[in-house]
Amino acid sequence: MMEKLIITAAICGAEVTKENSPAIPYTVEEMVREAKSAFEAGAAVIHVHVREDDGTPTQDRERFRVVLDAIKEACPGVILIPSTGGAVGMTAEERLQPTELFPEMATLDTVVNMANKGEVPGAPMQFNFVLGVSGCTPATVGNLDYLVKQIPTGSPWTVTGVGRGAWPMVAAGIVMGGNVRVGFEDNIYLEKGHKAASNGELVEKVVRLAKELGREIATPDEARKILSLA
Ligand code: ZN
Repeated sequence: MMEKLIITAAICGAEVTKENSPAIPYTVEEMVREAKSAFEAGAAVIHVHVREDDGTPTQDRERFRVVLDAIKEACPGVILIPSTGGAVGMTAEERLQPTELFPEMATLDTVVNMANKGEVPGAPMQFNFVLGVSGCTPATVGNLDYLVKQIPTGSPWTVTGVGRGAWPMVAAGIVMGGNVRVGFEDNIYLEKGHKAASNGELVEKVVRLAKELGREIATPDEARKILSLA
């Protein structure tokens, strides 16, 4: 019996813009709207980047505080993971500001280079271990299977479906017992040529796939247990 599926919604990111999709959130109000749509569709975890109102990515602690508080109020019980990745060109000090707000989790982006199989890092126990299947490492089920075998048995892991390969990887993650991250940060398309109108639509698709594939969806409190946060 597989654990319930934890759905993370990466609702904003730092690189996608309203030119890519008008639904990309910048303002606090828009962030709350997108978080709420994902939460109500079944996301237990919201991964948060913040922007200035004009869309410029920022790691400003006060901006994070306002956005995280507003999302908490709109999405009772949701697990929030602020980004420490920020945007291209930011210093480590800038990137780490949101950790000063003591979130339950933070991201640690660990890109595993498949070409260098000797140096696959172990999973830090308190962190969601983000496996990078990108660039020179094609997003294939075989590569995913290889990566999953590198982490300790029983550790929760999450597949992030990025761009064109997003949905097949999401489906593979569901079948293989992983968790799933979707959202505008990673992919704005529901299917080829059809942009999602909200993060909620992307989460709804995961819920439909999970149902078809026999995985139940974890609530935030169930996710806390699975992730050893509670
Ligand atoms: Zn991110």
